[in-house]
Amino acid sequence: MQLDWDKAINEILAAKMSCQACGTLGDEMIVGYTRNPDAAEFAQRCRDCVDKSDCDARKLVVVCEACARRYRVNGELVDETGMMTIMLDECRHNLEESIDYLTTYWKEDTDIDFDEMQKGLDEVDPELFREEDSWRMRLEEEYLQLHRWFREHRKPIPDPAWRSQYVEDVIGLGYTTLLGD
Ligand SMILES: [Zn+2]
Ligand SMILES: [Zn+2]
Repeated sequence: MQLDWDKAINEILAAKMSCQACGTLGDEMIVGYTRNPDAAEFAQRCRDCVDKSDCDARKLVVVCEACARRYRVNGELVDETGMMTIMLDECRHNLEESIDYLTTYWKEDTDIDFDEMQKGLDEVDPELFREEDSWRMRLEEEYLQLHRWFREHRKPIPDPAWRSQYVEDVIGLGYTTLLGD
C-alpha cells in the first residue's frame, strides 16, 4: 500500500477523525508513537520508507482504541484539537532536528574532512544539502497547513513564538524558509 502524502494530510485535516489503520471514524482517537514495523504501512512519516516491512523508526500515528492495542501505540485519547496540537509539536520537533542537522550534526559524519567543517553543508555536499532542504520544505508546508487549521477553527496556536525563533535560526544559517523572513 502506497500512502499519498497530500491525501494523508488532507484526510487528517478533514472534519472527522479517522483511524489511520482501519478507517474507523470517531470524535476521539489515540494519538501517539509506536515502533511496530506493521504500522509503517499507514504512518505518515513512513511514506518514503523503502522497506516498510522492516521499519522500527518511532512513528506518530492516529488510531482507534482497538488498533492502539494491536500496534502497541504509546499515546493518549484526544479530540481533534488535541490531535492537531500533537501534530504541530511533532512537526516543530522534526523542523528543529533538520536545523540541528544543517547547523552541526552533518559535520560529525566520518566522510567529512576536518578542514571542511567550517563551511556550510550546501558548499561541502550540495546534493545532500538539497535532499535535506527539500525534506525541510515539505515539513514547512505541513507546518503551514497545520497553522491554517488552527486559524480556521479559531483555536489559539500553542507557543506562537516558536515560529519567529525558527525563522531566525534558519536565516542565521544563511538559508531560506517558507515560514517567514
Ligand atoms: Zn483502527
Ligand atoms: Zn518507516
